[in-house]
Amino acid sequence: MVGMSRFLLWCWGRTLSTAFILKRCLSWVWVFKECQLIFQGGFYITSNTSILDENAFNAFKNIQGICFDVDDTLSTEGKLTHEAYAALWRLYRAGYQVVAVTGRASGWCDHMVRFWPVHAVLGENGAFSFWMKRGVRQTLLTPGGISQEQLLTQKLQLMKSVQEVFSEVLWASDQPYRTHDLAIDIGEGVPRWDSQDIERLMELCQQKGAVVRLSSIHVNAWFGDYDKWKGFQFWLEQEAEQKKVDTWAYIGDSPNDEPMFKRFHCSVGVANVAAYLPSFKYPPQWITRKKSGSGFVEFVDFLEKVRGI
Ligand SMILES: [Mg+2]
Repeated sequence: MVGMSRFLLWCWGRTLSTAFILKRCLSWVWVFKECQLIFQGGFYITSNTSILDENAFNAFKNIQGICFDVDDTLSTEGKLTHEAYAALWRLYRAGYQVVAVTGRASGWCDHMVRFWPVHAVLGENGAFSFWMKRGVRQTLLTPGGISQEQLLTQKLQLMKSVQEVFSEVLWASDQPYRTHDLAIDIGEGVPRWDSQDIERLMELCQQKGAVVRLSSIHVNAWFGDYDKWKGFQFWLEQEAEQKKVDTWAYIGDSPNDEPMFKRFHCSVGVANVAAYLPSFKYPPQWITRKKSGSGFVEFVDFLEKVRGI
């Protein structure tokens, strides 16, 4: 009888231990998931950036215009997904002013402004803006640029200097369609450069007098006192219907979006911006849970909720 009691007690002890271990495992799964969320959420606990959710509804209720970066904000790994493009149409049809602000080439921007549901496109990191008027493309050059002759000379010198140090360097595949900047491919059509080489490249461009910005796929270098913000500000003053910047929101993903994160009260990063947050002086105010084009869709879903659509 005593033996049986001891046996039952032993069984009960084992059951409790197993339950304890199981509970511990589950709690570690929970911790792991939370850590993932924190990471995806862009270190929101340690920075000024918060997850984009219903707590931000109030901040966005007067927003009437949306500016967005293209690469890895609207696009996903080099593709414009059906869902992201549909979300862009949803914004346009909801009556928002919709403006692409990108580092992409003039040739790309010409296509975007003609075919996409947008009111304007600012290209080559703010060098110019395009919009359509009665079927004819209009162009505004941002002040701060230099003459085409000077630009050509300085660009050729910069290309030579870069090639001397980085003999394997490749220009971005859209370089022939660029009118202002030099785009160096660091991860679009080539294996991703390591961060030290990217840093050395950016320092070299700066030493040669260029303004330099990093996007998710290129290092962009240009000669002139402008950036995405200055280009947008000039277009806003000259051509926009909604001229008050506090009625606009911006969504981006990379260091070349930082001038916009700095100036917009309503600034959003898609989740992949998390990789750059520690280096930002001006991080976005909010961050989506999803990356790239899916993050853009999440942002549009959010705006629809704000408007009760
Ligand atoms: Mg980008």
